[in-house]
Amino acid sequence: MANTDNHQIQHNEHFSLTDQPLDQKAAGDLAACQAQIRLLEQKNAALEQALQEAQEANQAKSRFLSSMSHDIRTPMNAIMGMVSIAISHIDEKARVQDCLGKIQTASSHLMSLVNDVLDMSRIDSGRISLREEMFSLADLVHDISVVVRPQATQRNHTLQIEIGTILQEHLIGDVLRLRQILVNIIGNAVKYTPDGGNIFVCLSQCAVPADFPMANADFLQGNAAPGPDTVLLEFQCSDNGIGMSEEFLKRIFEPFERVHNAATSKIEGTGLGMSIVKNLVDRMGGRIQVSSREGNGSRFDIAIPLAIAPQDTRNLHLPTGQTVLVAENQEPNAMQICAMLQSGGLQPLHMQSGLDIVTWLTEAQYEKHMPCALLLGQELTDMSVLELARHIRQLAGLDFPILLVSEADWAQIEFQASRAGVNAFVPCPLFQSRLLGTLADLTSQRRQDIDSSGEEDADYSGYHILLVEDNELNQEIALELLSVTGATVQIASDGAQAVELFASSPEDYFDLIFMDIQMPVMDGYEATRQIRAMSRQDARDVWIVAMTANAFVEDIRLSQEAGMNEHFSKPLDPGHLRDILHRQLRK
Ligand code: ADP
Repeated sequence: MANTDNHQIQHNEHFSLTDQPLDQKAAGDLAACQAQIRLLEQKNAALEQALQEAQEANQAKSRFLSSMSHDIRTPMNAIMGMVSIAISHIDEKARVQDCLGKIQTASSHLMSLVNDVLDMSRIDSGRISLREEMFSLADLVHDISVVVRPQATQRNHTLQIEIGTILQEHLIGDVLRLRQILVNIIGNAVKYTPDGGNIFVCLSQCAVPADFPMANADFLQGNAAPGPDTVLLEFQCSDNGIGMSEEFLKRIFEPFERVHNAATSKIEGTGLGMSIVKNLVDRMGGRIQVSSREGNGSRFDIAIPLAIAPQDTRNLHLPTGQTVLVAENQEPNAMQICAMLQSGGLQPLHMQSGLDIVTWLTEAQYEKHMPCALLLGQELTDMSVLELARHIRQLAGLDFPILLVSEADWAQIEFQASRAGVNAFVPCPLFQSRLLGTLADLTSQRRQDIDSSGEEDADYSGYHILLVEDNELNQEIALELLSVTGATVQIASDGAQAVELFASSPEDYFDLIFMDIQMPVMDGYEATRQIRAMSRQDARDVWIVAMTANAFVEDIRLSQEAGMNEHFSKPLDPGHLRDILHRQLRK
């Protein structure tokens, strides 16, 4: 009983004595519980999100792998199939040639896929750093046009590259990456426009608006913030091709996203280009906009702030005050050329007919007041510009400078043009610095090599080339290509051997070095560094060409940093090789 009472009392006490504090405590406990629950819920949500992200990443990875495998498989199948066909028809030359052509196409596609994937992964993992180097906008436009014009011509497109207002030709930025961006966009316009289309490209500059949104660009740590030392490079590319739906435009910058329909099914691509472009433009502090309508073409607008390079102080040795004959029937071209010549202190004399020019020059020669050069444009009223070049070359002799300003692809017309007597080429779109620079070079050394015997059978006997390559098959291919030129080729199988061979050669013995990068014992970078560090003049002067399968911009940079002069990527292209030999050995 006592126990019961006691219990009762305690029970009562419990109710009576602790009524108020218990409520507070319970409320406190409840709040703590609720906070705990909220925390758990947050943790749960975070976990769910992490799970979802991991699942999405996993799915993206699977999609990536399956796209990759599919995209690699397609050209691989073509290569293997063509190899089998070629083997079974080995005695039919035409058939084998056809197969080899197809193998070449498929393998170059495979190569671009692999390059894109590696580039993408470099960008993704933040392993690319943008370079700040001086470059000329004229060179950039020329390089782009060299790459895209043949593609456009092949598809019968009209490709118009217009140069708007240019405030500064010499800029600072990552020119290789800029080229990659622009080539990608124009390349797509060429690809996704049915044959015979119109592609319009325009490049211009303006001051960077103060409110230009370029906050996150690591590039801007340098000197491309808005101000007097920067310009905004504006690039526009429009086509009248197949266009894209609004729905697709939302995904265009996602890796591997491609439009899948009847119009695109036969067009090769990796779906990585746009993603790479977007990443690069972002990192440069630029802006990219796309507008498009299905069936109605597309338009890409890119704006990138770039720092202005210090003025090019190269003193052009122009024959100021002298007459330059301008042969051009197209009025706007002629006016542009004349204005540029005038601003270089020259006296342009414009004529539209070949016959008038021949007559005028005959008199000028008789009276001994020859102009300092003849500048050929695109067309004349009565004959082709190359026909005129032939006449003038005969009339005025081998020393007289004849320049050709043309939209044509120089590689395609070079043979014909140099045979006709043209000794320099200035590409369109025309930049003043290029026109005046070429004219200055040509007139200051009138003894230009006008040997028009062509590059194919050029004879380089007496020249010495060092070929540094560890792979026997590659050695054989390179040796085969080089030996037809008559040059003496010495082989080193690794970098150390190359260093030894160079060190033991007499001064100025080697005229050119082709250097592989990845080699046992000593790689190409180190070998180049060691050669460059030797205390002899030719170690600094010798032209070293990196010859490697690594064709990424980063690799090109590394080879430049090691002291190499240019990059020649494998598989070796005979045309490119001829160009290098021509430039370096026929100085
Ligand atoms: P791809 O290697 O497939 O060309 P990109 O990443 O460069 O990959 O482009 C992604 C996709 O965007 C293309 O597959 C194509 O469907 C679409 N696209 C890009 N540019 C154009 C264009 N100028 N016109 C129409 N479609 C385009």
